[in-house]
Amino acid sequence: MPADAVPSSGPPPRGRFAPSPTGGMHLGNAFAALLAWLACKSRGGRMVFRLEDLDPARSRPEFAEGLLRDLSWLGLSWDEGPDVGGPYGPYRQSERLHLYQEAAERLAARGLVYPCFCTRKDLRTLASAPHAGEAGPAYPGTCAGLTPGECAAREAAGRRPALRLRCPDEGVRFVDLARGELCLSPADLGDVAIRRSDRIWAYQLAVVADDAAMRISQVVRGDDLLDSTPRQVLLFHLLGAPTPEFLHVPLLVDEEGQRLAKRHAALSLAALRDAGVAAAAATGWLGFAAGLLPEPAPCRAEDLLPLFDPARLPRGPVMLPSGLADRLRRLS
Ligand code: GLU
Repeated sequence: MPADAVPSSGPPPRGRFAPSPTGGMHLGNAFAALLAWLACKSRGGRMVFRLEDLDPARSRPEFAEGLLRDLSWLGLSWDEGPDVGGPYGPYRQSERLHLYQEAAERLAARGLVYPCFCTRKDLRTLASAPHAGEAGPAYPGTCAGLTPGECAAREAAGRRPALRLRCPDEGVRFVDLARGELCLSPADLGDVAIRRSDRIWAYQLAVVADDAAMRISQVVRGDDLLDSTPRQVLLFHLLGAPTPEFLHVPLLVDEEGQRLAKRHAALSLAALRDAGVAAAAATGWLGFAAGLLPEPAPCRAEDLLPLFDPARLPRGPVMLPSGLADRLRRLS
């Protein structure tokens, strides 16, 4: 499958923030959000805020409010979103379920969807199996050849299937604005889950259905989602939607090389703010981490617009210095 041409200039893009309201925003999320905003706004684009709240067990309204508050505190703005509306709403995934159903039906009508009865245990066994390539263990197609009768017998026994996309035999190519062309073979791609066995639409399907429906033309997100991108490129192709341009940005990691997570509570934006850190100090440090500033001097997000250049991003994870919260407080 050919890589779509990826402009780094050209018409103003439609970019997006697509956070899941499952926790507070920390410096790592803020780094990706700042770079998404800079990539979009440095080319005069429109920014969409979409809440990815499909998992009711993990999503909470207070986290959603926190995300909106934290991004605004950093000086990042959006032109469309759950709070401001816009022509492609609603901007909460939980209110867009019909779109995912429609997308799945279109794929199913082409014979591309099959029920998968593998349990989590089956998949964990798979996950620990040695596997070449960076894409992670691909689903080996255990349920791909089940007959309708075999499926019915499993359902009659009370087993609830997930739904999987039957991947074509071609590999997928796409271009990352910083890395250039990347490709993944069908064996590494595997058959992607598009709906979980609890009937919750899978991230891969929902994100593509939404990016297509919202006319998103630029996706900037953390390197942790790089493995998802070829699967999503495939879905864009199968759904007949144009593929956005992609930029995967480095992760911020702690001194042990672990990516920032909820347990790094002192580096959440709310905790930094409460500790007296000014937004300009956090923004300046993030701009420095992105290679846009020679030193972490306080600045506003818009001051970074003329400096934005994906080629200046560090190539690997960015390690946070120890005592960062204190250093940011002194910069404030
Ligand atoms: N909702 C995803 C997350 O919070 C990000 C989705 C995306 O950027 O594609 O990790």
